[in-house]
Amino acid sequence: MSDTTVDTSNLTGNYEFEPCAEINQGEARSGIRASFNGLLQDAPGCSTSIVNGLSQQLIHQMNLIVPDALVSFDDLNVQLEDAAFPFLQPSAKQGLQQAIQERGIKMSINSAYRTIAQQLLLYRWGSGCGFHVVAPPGQSNHQSGLALDVEDPDGWEPFLERHGWQWFGNQDPPHFDYVGGGTQDLRDTAMLAIQKLWNKNHPNETIDEDGGYGSQTEDALNRSPAMGFAKAPWDEKPRILRMGRPLMEGSDVKKLQESLKRAGITVSVDWVFGPGTDKAVKEFQQKKGLKADGIVGPKTLEQLA
Ligand SMILES: [Zn+2]
Repeated sequence: MSDTTVDTSNLTGNYEFEPCAEINQGEARSGIRASFNGLLQDAPGCSTSIVNGLSQQLIHQMNLIVPDALVSFDDLNVQLEDAAFPFLQPSAKQGLQQAIQERGIKMSINSAYRTIAQQLLLYRWGSGCGFHVVAPPGQSNHQSGLALDVEDPDGWEPFLERHGWQWFGNQDPPHFDYVGGGTQDLRDTAMLAIQKLWNKNHPNETIDEDGGYGSQTEDALNRSPAMGFAKAPWDEKPRILRMGRPLMEGSDVKKLQESLKRAGITVSVDWVFGPGTDKAVKEFQQKKGLKADGIVGPKTLEQLA
């Protein structure tokens, strides 16, 4: 790592600083939980994985508002911490891919994208859960899909810096920001996502779709179900279901599991696309003479209909 601390004041803008190492350690300690069956305001601490269902809806909704705003990078040579959402903006992913290819080894990643639902929980739980979280939803630098926390930052620094990534400095050793250009500020999009989702599910109690974070949006977020809303963004545009990271969950997974059952395949209808569902999809694909890859694309869907 370089001897001088990089001046990051120009690239962090009005982002507030939070030590990622502390947050990630706290998350790792708290482990992975199933999504909480209740509202965000009642969510027990201290693992943000309890809001996985809603977080997946928020990411999908953002991509409906801005196509390919965030793309998954779990196809790269990476080892992911269980709670990490492997999403970045496309050009940031490209820079990451080049750095990994150049070094030629697997990268261990503790955190990448954090949704506003996760940030709200971290902000509320704060020191009670051992987190030093100072930024309300929308202000953390992990919410634009341009930040990454890695293991072995010393080893990765020269490779990442050659491909548009800048090391934050000694205050937050695992943290890198993408400064390579071709990116956009997604903080408004993240707010629009919850505002649109809320309105779709509460036509008689709508809130302003202004992309800002005020008391109205905070209240809506607090009263959102941690498992996700009944009317989901994938009702509008289906997502490709597969065994992803973190595990995909939601009403579309439930529908898939029910269809598999109807087709005579043994699978439990638990809303989560885990190893059991993966096995069931492959079994179904084999039965139908399709490529048994466990990915539910158009051909598999057609056969399931
Ligand atoms: Zn970070």
